[in-house]
Amino acid sequence: MQLTILSTSDTHGYIFPTNYVKPRAHMPFGLIRAATVIAAEQRAAPGPTITIDDGDFLAGSPLAYYVAQVQTPPDPLPLTRIYNQIHYDAAVMGNHEFDYGTQYLERALNATERPIVNANILDNAGRPLFGQRYRIIERGGVKIAILGLTTRAVMQWKNHANVANDVHFRTAVSVAKELVPYLKKIADIVIVAYHGGFERSLKTGKLIESLSNGENEAYQLLEEVKGIDA
Ligand SMILES: [Zn+2]
Repeated sequence: MQLTILSTSDTHGYIFPTNYVKPRAHMPFGLIRAATVIAAEQRAAPGPTITIDDGDFLAGSPLAYYVAQVQTPPDPLPLTRIYNQIHYDAAVMGNHEFDYGTQYLERALNATERPIVNANILDNAGRPLFGQRYRIIERGGVKIAILGLTTRAVMQWKNHANVANDVHFRTAVSVAKELVPYLKKIADIVIVAYHGGFERSLKTGKLIESLSNGENEAYQLLEEVKGIDA
């Protein structure tokens, strides 16, 4: 069986491929263009497909700002309704999901059909604050686990209006070390969907940023956690 994994990331509420300043410009981004590519890849795939959103969908575009901050009351529905058309199999939380506060975020997640995978944003009791730690999907008799992890960079906004006091983060690496070996036992393929970047150069292994706020852990994740297939 050949499994095709399709993924979007950092769509930031851009639906149409426009920047609104140049109305006729056809920009190389936007959910509508991604949807076209996803549909074409699904048709062309030799086997089953899985579609994952890697986070940062709720804030960034003028439309996302308008529905959250200009219209009263704030209503994420015009945005989430469009995202629901993609029918994601799993979606990770991005750091910018918190841009308009936890309350707005909860309203958006209630209106969305995206199955949230989130193993390291926790409540006071240590349970996932949103969604579930991982999802197991079966395709052609093969069990595929998708683990969701999010950059700890959100912590720098803690105690501000947008991140409540009772939001806790564990490092992506520590959570993956616990869960990946377990998922490896109960599934055939383990996918880690991590909203974050590389802290070291992939070519040389040299640090490319300060590690102080733990924003990016992907290099360490791949170095230290065995058993990640994708
Ligand atoms: Zn982000």
